[in-house]
Amino acid sequence: MKKSIARNIRFSLLGYTLFTVLLLWLFQIIFLNTYYQAMQKASVIRVGAQIAAHISDDNFEDTLEQLSFSHRMCSLVIDENGRELYSIDMLGRGCIIHSPARISLVGLLAPLLNGEKDEVVEQVRQARFHNESIIYAKAVTTESGQRVIILINAVLDPVGSTRDILKSQLIIISAVLAALALVISRLVAVRLSRPIRRITSKAKRLADGVYTADYDGGGIEEIDELAETLNFSAKGLSRVEELRRELVANVSHDLKTPLTMIKAYAEMIRDLTGSNKAKRDGQLDIIISETDRLTALVTDLINVSRNESEKKHYVAQPFDLSKMLADTVARFSQICPEHRLTLTDPGCPAVTADRDSIGQVLYNLLSNAVNYTGEDKSVSVSACPGQDGVRVEIRDTGCGIPPEEIPLIWERYYRSGNTHQRPVAGSGLGLSIVRSALSAQELPFGVESAVGEGSCFWFVLPAAPPDGADEGNA
Ligand code: ADP
Repeated sequence: MKKSIARNIRFSLLGYTLFTVLLLWLFQIIFLNTYYQAMQKASVIRVGAQIAAHISDDNFEDTLEQLSFSHRMCSLVIDENGRELYSIDMLGRGCIIHSPARISLVGLLAPLLNGEKDEVVEQVRQARFHNESIIYAKAVTTESGQRVIILINAVLDPVGSTRDILKSQLIIISAVLAALALVISRLVAVRLSRPIRRITSKAKRLADGVYTADYDGGGIEEIDELAETLNFSAKGLSRVEELRRELVANVSHDLKTPLTMIKAYAEMIRDLTGSNKAKRDGQLDIIISETDRLTALVTDLINVSRNESEKKHYVAQPFDLSKMLADTVARFSQICPEHRLTLTDPGCPAVTADRDSIGQVLYNLLSNAVNYTGEDKSVSVSACPGQDGVRVEIRDTGCGIPPEEIPLIWERYYRSGNTHQRPVAGSGLGLSIVRSALSAQELPFGVESAVGEGSCFWFVLPAAPPDGADEGNA
């Protein structure tokens, strides 16, 4: 069964109260007598030692009187024959060492008299007076060489009445503590659960697409952390949602334009130019290139959804980068004959990476360069073998990217406001695919860009071990 915060706190506090009350009962009620007796015994032994220390003093009798008086004990000093030397009686009839019953202590004193022991302490019950005493005896030798015995009698007061008083007090204390525990647990529970309930009800609205980030932890550290995390997630979700909407709008636009053109040219061929080979071929070329734009767009979408739905598996293998660069540049030269694409390749060594994903990275970067390059329509691709591997650069002469936009361009669905006509269709997904492919393979990549001058996208591929080139790849 799930327990609410209120229940948890209530149980904990009540448990704590119960434990405290139990301890109080144990010490104040159950062990009170034992504790009291042990303390009295220790006190008698302490006083006995003090008396023994002063036995040869001139004013010993005064000291004996003071100590006996302040500790409410009777004391007696006798010699080895039982003759009284000093006697202080503070207790009257209840005192054993000053009563005829002293005779019963012979057994107790025997070990002292025959030198077996120096000190004895015993608890003695006097049935006649219904009381209990602690009898302490210590044998000492005075400075004059006389062996004497110090006897102390302390009465153990009955603790029954004290116990009764404590008992009634404890009942009240227990009730007050239990009531306090209930009130405090209620207050703490309300204070803790209120912000949690508030957060829960707001978080439920996330499912309905309400991404307002106004979660508040009510000043409680852990709940504040939860609220901050939810605020952060809500902002992220709302941004993804915004980008998703933009994507749908962009993609529908990018799908519609080529479809309209394909339809228009197909109708034109059917109705007008079908018999004119030159015109018809020109229009068919347009249809083919528009179809290519559509295919590129749909491929991007498929790649992204595949990356999202499954963790893509990259297989690093050696391949011929020079051939891949040459093939890709040649393909773009065909698609965009009006562009000037140059390839600078001093002859790359074979590299090791996932070939298909690198092919896609190259394709995406090149199509961006073709799309965004400047009036001179020039794009240059270069490969630079170095110590860390081969650095591939795709450079254009376009409008460049403002520094504040650079971190954003790698995000999924991000597209700048610039919607100029592009030769290759784009969805705002190209660079996000580049980033996920390169970072998953831990390959360095980046962009250097100057507004008004152009951009240079780059990445580095590790060189393959000397005998590793796979000749069969393309
Ligand atoms: P798309 O090009 O389809 O919009 P991308 O993910 O490939 O999507 O690029 C995201 C954004 O990055 C582009 O919309 C554009 O603003 C910017 N960008 C990418 N490449 C370049 C480039 N070579 N020159 C200038 N801006 C670029």
